[in-house]
Amino acid sequence: MSRVRIPSPAPITISNSVHNLRKPDSVEPVASAREIVAAAMREFGSSLIVLSSFQREDVIVTDLVLSASPSTRVLTLDTGRVPEATHRIVAEVERRYAIAVERIVPDPAEVDAMVALHGIDLFRDSVPDRMLCCDIRKSRPLARGLSGVAAYFTGLRRAQAKSRASIEVFDRSAASVKISPLADWTTEDVLRYTRERGLPEHALYAAGYTSIGCDPCTRPIVAGEDERAGRWWWESPEAVKECGLHFSADGRAERTVDVLLREVLAAQAGAPAQSA
Ligand code: SF4
Repeated sequence: MSRVRIPSPAPITISNSVHNLRKPDSVEPVASAREIVAAAMREFGSSLIVLSSFQREDVIVTDLVLSASPSTRVLTLDTGRVPEATHRIVAEVERRYAIAVERIVPDPAEVDAMVALHGIDLFRDSVPDRMLCCDIRKSRPLARGLSGVAAYFTGLRRAQAKSRASIEVFDRSAASVKISPLADWTTEDVLRYTRERGLPEHALYAAGYTSIGCDPCTRPIVAGEDERAGRWWWESPEAVKECGLHFSADGRAERTVDVLLREVLAAQAGAPAQSA
């Protein structure tokens, strides 16, 4: 999508707690993102939420959305394996915007069954095991959390990884529309907006991380790697660096994870797994 060009950006409406911050100088990407946020609000109204993992992009989207609509709900997925620094930035964002972030958590019975069958660090064993963990800790709770939500904002950008190169700003392929106002932002756009607005930053960026997820599945990157190379770094480069709502085109891995999931759900329910 091409960026929207607006000669005179609309004035910033900001919450009381950030009223003393100056307007960013980088007008074009900011204006484009504001246009997207405004269009989403016209279409979806109060059923819109922000889904945040508290990376820089998520904090920017939160800032843009709450500037336009301070009562918008902000949700995050707490998988039970996120780093302590993530909990700290959640608290920091809550203080800054005077909001209570809503935590989506996995079903404890499903987690217990998975761990009993495969161990807590099963993701190291194979791609299907990793997908199973992401399914139990992320995809299934997220599907429950988004139930009844018409649309949600994310901080996804096309430049983050090859697997995100063709994301849509308005992705209408699922029941809840996924909206990515920063889809065409560059890393420089992100850093500039963060700096100019004085936004809180996740502490792990200072340690060389460029994409931050669960603690055991994320490492800092080295020069030349794409921004999501630190996610599940032990897997082959062909493995999709995503977490399950859009599984790999690798049909074998998808079928295997489906079998593993059926076994976990059967164990959690106290019944033997049925073959497909
Ligand atoms: S990122 Fe790692 S720990 Fe987190 S849900 Fe996926 S496999 Fe499990």
